[in-house]
Amino acid sequence: MATTKGKLIECDKCGEKVFLKLIGKDYYDGGYSSQDKFEEMPENWLYRALPLYCYLCPTCNREITKILKEFWGEKSERYIKDEYLK
Ligand SMILES: [Zn+2]
Repeated sequence: MATTKGKLIECDKCGEKVFLKLIGKDYYDGGYSSQDKFEEMPENWLYRALPLYCYLCPTCNREITKILKEFWGEKSERYIKDEYLK
């Protein structure tokens, strides 16, 4: 049986999951502190801070972006970054 270290990301709305493998460590303070380093999230998966802090899969990301665009109207560009609009 094989074991792979990593972290499981779950979409906060629909529960879809993606697994990110552990690929190493980043060291700080001359090696005194370290933090695990994981694979990048797949394209359009997103950790976003607006309107709440949550992980979103591409489908839910599109859905909430559409709602936010309707809500903000012309001000959308100020509050929604391009990366959210893919
Ligand atoms: Zn989702």
